[in-house]
Amino acid sequence: MIVAASANGRAGMAAALDILRRGGSALDAVEAATRAVEADVNDHSVGVGGYPNALGEVELDASLMEGTARRAGAVAALRGYPHPISVARAILERLPQHVLLAGEGAARFAAECGFAPAELLTEEARDAWQRRMGDERAWRTMPLQDLAARMQDPQRAAGTVNFLARDAQGRLASAVSTSGWAFKYPGRVGDSPLIGAGNYCDDRYGACACTGLGEWAIRAATARTVVLGLQHGLSLQEAGAGAMADLRAIPLPPQVEPVMNLIVLDREGRHAAFSTQAGRTYLWQSPDMVAPEEASRHEAGEGMA
Ligand code: ASP
Repeated sequence: MIVAASANGRAGMAAALDILRRGGSALDAVEAATRAVEADVNDHSVGVGGYPNALGEVELDASLMEGTARRAGAVAALRGYPHPISVARAILERLPQHVLLAGEGAARFAAECGFAPAELLTEEARDAWQRRMGDERAWRTMPLQDLAARMQDPQRAAGTVNFLARDAQGRLASAVSTSGWAFKYPGRVGDSPLIGAGNYCDDRYGACACTGLGEWAIRAATARTVVLGLQHGLSLQEAGAGAMADLRAIPLPPQVEPVMNLIVLDREGRHAAFSTQAGRTYLWQSPDMVAPEEASRHEAGEGMA
């Protein structure tokens, strides 16, 4: 049994470990862990308190996947509900013919399931948006695409939470939740709710989840690439570094910072993490440990594989 998470997942580790220790499923563990981070108003990249889009509206993306039957649920650009991961779980359970609901349809489904709506935009996030907007008269006349491009701020835009778990029965599950790029174009969807891009899980081989530049992971189907590497007999190190090298083969526009972070968990519960940036970390914990350990990610920089 084990849980691995992005470094901003600390608030959810205890909930996940508690479920695994009691014999619960990996899927329950990653959902409960993600909910704890979504509820944290001080995390400006996930759930309540997340930074809004260019119009000042918080839009959330999330997905979860279980590795036994590869069932998945996901929501994109969901407004007004603080726990997108649980709406994604409800899609997995109650709408088995669907995987992903977006926008109004996702919100309608959340209401139908009885999820409690909430205001997601905190004062702090609204202030940050307004500061970034500057002169309101100017932006009211500006095409939204110019506004969104002008407002993007890599210093504060990034962040997503990842949880991967393996339970006592050897089942794997993965969960990803985010408010996406701060001040994004309304309706922009990143990699987090896209199965194969930001999230993938298969009990037979392993699971992978991403944070970073979602558009990059979408174009390279990064999470699936990593798991496919494991399927083809690569080690964790080879599969992770190989997927990072594959991303590097996609040229990005100069104004875009090439940031990608991966966590990988294999079917035996071994784990590793990778980043384009030096000094990045991730968390992992098994039930015999009292607290998570913060471990270094492998740096997979330019030209490295
Ligand atoms: N991957 C997320 C997205 O593109 C953002 C992030 O992890 O920084 O929406």
